[in-house]
Amino acid sequence: MSEITDYLVIGAGIVGLATAWHLSRLRPEAEITILEKEADLAQHQSSHNSGVIHAGVYYKPRTYMAKNCIEGYRRLLNFCDEHQVGYRICGKLITAVEDWELPHLERLKANAGQNGLTGLRIMNPEEVKEIEPHLHCKGALWVPQTGVVDFAEVCRKLASLLSEHGVEFHFNTRVESIHAVGRRIVVRTGGGEFNAWHVVNCAGLYADKLAFPNPGKASLAVVPFRGEYYVISDEKKDLVKNLVYPVPNPQLPFLGVHFTRRIDHQVDIGPNAVLAFAREGYRMKDVNAGEMADYLRFPGFWRMARRYWKVGIDEIHRSLSKRAFMKKAVQYFPEITEKDVQRGPSGVRAQAIDWYGRPLHDFFFEKQRSVLHCLNVPSPAATASLAIGEVVARKLLS
Ligand SMILES: Cc1cc2nc3c(=O)[nH]c(=O)nc-3n(C[C@H](O)[C@H](O)[C@H](O)COP(=O)(O)OP(=O)(O)OC[C@H]3O[C@@H](n4cnc5c(N)ncnc54)[C@H](O)[C@@H]3O)c2cc1C
Repeated sequence: MSEITDYLVIGAGIVGLATAWHLSRLRPEAEITILEKEADLAQHQSSHNSGVIHAGVYYKPRTYMAKNCIEGYRRLLNFCDEHQVGYRICGKLITAVEDWELPHLERLKANAGQNGLTGLRIMNPEEVKEIEPHLHCKGALWVPQTGVVDFAEVCRKLASLLSEHGVEFHFNTRVESIHAVGRRIVVRTGGGEFNAWHVVNCAGLYADKLAFPNPGKASLAVVPFRGEYYVISDEKKDLVKNLVYPVPNPQLPFLGVHFTRRIDHQVDIGPNAVLAFAREGYRMKDVNAGEMADYLRFPGFWRMARRYWKVGIDEIHRSLSKRAFMKKAVQYFPEITEKDVQRGPSGVRAQAIDWYGRPLHDFFFEKQRSVLHCLNVPSPAATASLAIGEVVARKLLS
């Protein structure tokens, strides 16, 4: 490697890998280096998710989320076809279990139409039974395009293509700071310094920490929200044929607890959205006081807490109590009860909150000279990654 690499990418999650992939295509002769703090790639959000290929129903038209989800969907399927990564297009039902939820199905269908999706259909309970015979509901929106994949496998394929192209990976290399020295960018890590002409920060749950070393000057904070899943027993899992989602609360950036038949046919229920006490706080007992202070010091956090404290307390209650978690789930599948599920995996979302305490509802990138920070790339960023990677690469090159 020369003393100054052309492009240095921080983070070997799906966004960092997809960005490096696009850089390698746009600048085939350039030297590209990826720094990752873990011993392997995709150890966090990119492997701790629902594995759903989102079609683009929910996102506000013309936002980065809407455009990149739909473009990313198309590219992801092409990528999987070309590189023999398995996926399954199974469709999903967004389900109303209360009367007041029914008009929201029309709203979501209209939104999906504005995003260019076709073939969606509002179904009555009898029609729903043909797709999900055990689902109880008042009606549902059928989204035929939705599918499932293992995003960690997509990451492994991207990484092997990058290695073949000559991209260098440095694992166990945690970036501590990023500084400009003239035109050069100096990246300090536990294992020494790296120099680059351009840097992309795809550090996920730590992206704000690297972008705003002085939290007093930060315009946003990444707040970790844990999503916990319960796995349905083998005896009962066939009651769920594919994907069943609730009607989401449009105020919140999360889609709600859903039933997912994964690519390997494990069926789970989740994820909830519980404030985590550490950036990588996969369990309630994972507490990191310094990392909590990062968000507690941010004024926007307290504004968010004032607005959503009740939702937050309910989520903590559902996290602590299996009974409380299952109370909502049994409305959809009454035959699946508390004794049929076991605690399963969890993931932690990197959700950016602005100064006014509002969760960002769109992808957000910020360029500081030759450094581009990916500051809000939550769901559906895994689906959208191959489109986001190009957006990020082009922003960096502009
Ligand atoms: C519970 C859950 C469910 C989800 N479900 C879906 C879904 O069904 N469909 C979908 O499309 N999306 C889903 N998402 C969203 C999707 O998984 C993420 O948006 C996506 O994986 C983000 O990728 P990333 O590369 O930005 O982050 P990550 O995968 O978290 O990667 C960031 C990387 O940066 C590394 N890193 C951090 N700090 C440093 C540092 N200082 N130095 C070096 N390396 C560092 C980390 O170790 C990590 O490898 C879900 C997310 C969660 C949490």
